[in-house]
Amino acid sequence: MSRVLIVGAGLTGSLCAYLLRKELPSKLQVVIWDKARGAGGRMSTSRCPSDPNCTVDLGAQYITVTPYYAQKHKRFYEELLAQGICKPLGAVVEGMVAKDGAYNLVTPQGVSSIVKHYLKQSGADVFYERQVTQINLRDGKWEVCRKSGSPEPFDVVVLTMPVPQMLQLQGDIVNLIKPSQRQQLETISYSSRYALGLFYEAGTEVDVPWASKYITNSPCIRFISIDDKKRNLESPGVGPSLVVHTSVPFGIEHLEQEKEVVQPLILKHLETILPNLPQPMYIKCQKWRYSQVTEAFPGCPGQLTLYSEPLLFCGGDGFTHSNFDGCTESALQIVKTLASHL
Ligand code: FAD
Repeated sequence: MSRVLIVGAGLTGSLCAYLLRKELPSKLQVVIWDKARGAGGRMSTSRCPSDPNCTVDLGAQYITVTPYYAQKHKRFYEELLAQGICKPLGAVVEGMVAKDGAYNLVTPQGVSSIVKHYLKQSGADVFYERQVTQINLRDGKWEVCRKSGSPEPFDVVVLTMPVPQMLQLQGDIVNLIKPSQRQQLETISYSSRYALGLFYEAGTEVDVPWASKYITNSPCIRFISIDDKKRNLESPGVGPSLVVHTSVPFGIEHLEQEKEVVQPLILKHLETILPNLPQPMYIKCQKWRYSQVTEAFPGCPGQLTLYSEPLLFCGGDGFTHSNFDGCTESALQIVKTLASHL
């Protein structure tokens, strides 16, 4: 049995593990390492420390299903709907630009429930707080080093983190990436933005006529959502939660500042848009240095094979586009290429 390491428990990594289990069940032992404390990556759902039932999606907000991918990825959508992980967005989103024939899905339990579903179905051994730092070639296998703990050997490695983070890895990988590949990898770019999650006590009213709203006239804020309302959640005894996304220009301008400095600036702008907001019991500020892909790998191949013997791949939305379908395309390509080598 080949031992496969997937780096990243985001949507691409979890889908890869799920598809490998379905398509090559007896050939591989799949292990996933993620540097974070939980699953989701940019499809993360954060919990209020004093009430874990009060949650907020700080990254992806909903899944937009276009007519093309509704057909192409039908089996994925059918499964998520049948399991109750996704359901149609029923709430009002002010200012949303509707794409021709497209519709949106929301996740009642938070967007990370999609990733958790795939991880659970994959049967992979998932380890959090394992940050990969170096990848070396030792005796025909990959020796993968992490920030703390011993290095481990793997037959195949799949990297799914944002590409600039992949290019920061040290060890033999630095010289094994061909100069022409590195040049192409360096063309991949991402937008940056901040997200704030505001958690309220049970019984608090956030009185606005919409569930989510795109803001067009603020130098700081681009999107606000009453998260529980957007997800159509009715949880008695649980307070509302609100997410704020900044615009990309604001994100870029304040990228190198500490979150403690940026959070009050965003709150000040929020007050001008929603002056009567009640006082939250907790606020979480998230810096998305790599938010959404603005320039993907040339030709959007879904994956790139960095080395063939032993196998080393990279994938993720940097090789397609930043949404559910982009990650699905990438995972499908990784699994197809891996299967062709076995
Ligand atoms: P990631 O989710 O980034 O996963 C990579 C994982 O790798 C992370 O968990 C990270 O912790 C881990 N990692 C990184 N470096 C290391 C290391 N050295 N060692 C170990 N682990 C490591 N998409 C939609 O479909 N709809 C939306 O509405 C939407 N809105 C968005 C809004 C925002 C603010 C953001 C940020 C994204 C949004 N997206 C949306 C895009 C979507 O979230 C991403 O395309 C998708 O989550 C990318 O998944 P991924 O698995 O490729 O990468």
